[in-house]
Amino acid sequence: MSSNRVVVYKSPGEVAVESIDFPSLEVPQEVADHFGITKKAPHAAILKIVTTNICGSDQHMVRGRTTAPQGQTLGHEITGEVVETGEDVLFLREGDICSVPFNIACGRCRMCDEGKTGICLNVNPARAGAAYGYVDMGGWIGGQAEYVMIPYADFNLLKFPDRDQALEKILDLTMLSDIFPTGYHGAYTAGVTTGSTVYVAGAGPVGLAAAHSAQLLGASVVMVGDMNKDRLAQAESFGCVGIDLTAEGELTEMIAEIVGDPEVDAAVDAVGFEARGHGEGAGEAPATVLNDCMTVARAGAGIGIPGLYVTGDPGAVDDAAKEGTLGVRLGLGWAKSHSFATGQCPVKQYNRKLMNLILHDRAQIAQAVSATTISLDDAPRGYQEFDDGAARKFVIDPHGMVPA
Ligand code: NAD
Ligand code: ZN
Ligand code: ZN
Repeated sequence: MSSNRVVVYKSPGEVAVESIDFPSLEVPQEVADHFGITKKAPHAAILKIVTTNICGSDQHMVRGRTTAPQGQTLGHEITGEVVETGEDVLFLREGDICSVPFNIACGRCRMCDEGKTGICLNVNPARAGAAYGYVDMGGWIGGQAEYVMIPYADFNLLKFPDRDQALEKILDLTMLSDIFPTGYHGAYTAGVTTGSTVYVAGAGPVGLAAAHSAQLLGASVVMVGDMNKDRLAQAESFGCVGIDLTAEGELTEMIAEIVGDPEVDAAVDAVGFEARGHGEGAGEAPATVLNDCMTVARAGAGIGIPGLYVTGDPGAVDDAAKEGTLGVRLGLGWAKSHSFATGQCPVKQYNRKLMNLILHDRAQIAQAVSATTISLDDAPRGYQEFDDGAARKFVIDPHGMVPA
């Protein structure tokens, strides 16, 4: 057990699996220095990774659209088995199988007190909030690996009640580390409730998770817009209405054809800053989805924005967008009294409840996002196919623990 292997970012479009040290019970040096705490982390646990998913958020780095350095370790969607605990970990045992919220949180600060674990104040010198394997997120080692260290383990880890049951439902449970709570957060903060009409922009895994969550929250109609036909077909496979944005015509008209009204009760942006304009082969237009959401959401509606927006984008279409300044028509949203929910999803607010839905067969999230298992060595291929727009969510199984 003396080595570890992890997926790293090499250059735009290229990732590789490389050997690194086996994790130790220590916080990153930059975190220790900045917060004046010891590097020693008796509150941490080491997990043998059972599953770890590739995310659209990873793609922003791998496409060279962030300031991620070469060698950045990747992976923030982690489910694993506890194999070692520090002496201050009191309530977890070796052999426990746990979901890891992608947000790293201390459990001791003002934000954590309020349940706002996506903006913990004690885990990242650069800003509020941290994550595993992500640029500007505190220097924590990524979990697309064989093993990973989880700090403040009693607080962060969600233990599954039964090991055998967990392994049986692992392809659903693996979505609890990020996209199921994130999609749910998008729908929930958009105000989706019984009978709501909903527009979800983006049929990637987060959009599909938001769409399934909207159904669970009682939506009457869930429309999902994208330009990718395979992904639209995937959305339709579980009862959503696909809207093909390569087709001619205004989005409001397409929505009116479906629900008899050009507006919806709730809208979710599951695309983010790499949004493209409408129409076949349209170029990048980063404010498109935010403007679409304000256009189609009725007065008084909520807009959930799990789609990611950045403060620095070397590959942006213009100078303003390079620093995250986009052509957002805020006056429209203001005039309609919209409310906006942005930022990292605070996973801990939802993961236990969504786990229970999975364990009681009330949510089919693996099926909704077309979970597809691959080996750690196949990660570069998974990244490539996902970037090419595969209607799949790739789940890396580094130790061959996922039942066939
Ligand atoms: P993805 O890249 O697989 O999916 C994005 C989809 O949006 C693609 O299918 C693309 O064709 C589509 N798209 C592009 N322009 C569009 C437009 N104008 N209208 C509608 N669809 C359009 O990514 P994903 O894994 O589904 O993640 C989606 C977003 O959510 C990313 O920005 C990711 O970083 C973000 N994210 C945020 C959080 C959070 O906590 N807030 C967590 C996870 C992911
Ligand atoms: Zn993710
Ligand atoms: Zn905190």
